Amino acid sequence: LFISIEGPDGSGKSTQIRLLKEYLSKNGRQAILTREPGGTIISEKIREIILDKKYIEMDPMTEALLYAASRCQHVAEVIKPALEEGKTVICDRFVDSSIAYQGYGRQLGEAVRIINEYAVAGCMPDITFLLKVEPSVGKKRIREEEQDRLEKEKLEFHNAVFTGYLELEKLYKDRIIGIDASKGIDEISNEIILQIQNFIEG
Ligand code: C5P
Repeated sequence: LFISIEGPDGSGKSTQIRLLKEYLSKNGRQAILTREPGGTIISEKIREIILDKKYIEMDPMTEALLYAASRCQHVAEVIKPALEEGKTVICDRFVDSSIAYQGYGRQLGEAVRIINEYAVAGCMPDITFLLKVEPSVGKKRIREEEQDRLEKEKLEFHNAVFTGYLELEKLYKDRIIGIDASKGIDEISNEIILQIQNFIEG
């Protein structure tokens, strides 16, 4: 079972991922948790380069290709082997983040979807939870040092990212489950768990 969790900054992804992992472990499912961009030595190195863009200007297409390269390695080295061993994989961000952030946010459009088709080589999540929160609300929820980074990326950018996510939700109804992330932590967690139970029971 391959699960990805998506959402804008400040949507509460990390908390929900932790709660989901706890639930799966309690229920005897071996789950691995990985993050994007990262998850392997090569991917973590690429992540460092990408995160350095805080200080250095990076061409948006370079950024998109680096995310895709990191993801390719992550799929080949971590995700595919784990799925083949029957493990559950929870991925903190996946292809949808690239489409939302680079495709919509940085306006690279269709190119992002195409390069990622090569990167994932058919390995797509069975189920994706999209934690939906308006960017202006999400921004208020995050740490101050993170706020500085987001200040540099204008609200306009984050609104475009959010629009991208909503488009993806409409396009991939079978895979993406949108969740109102303004609800309480437990309520959201219960909703996610219920959806997973339904999926497993088929
Ligand atoms: O919330 P998280 O720590 O996962 O996000 C890290 C940051 O990486 C996001 O705020 C976003 O700006 C950026 N990101 C991106 N493109 C992606 C994935 C993440 O710009 N494809």
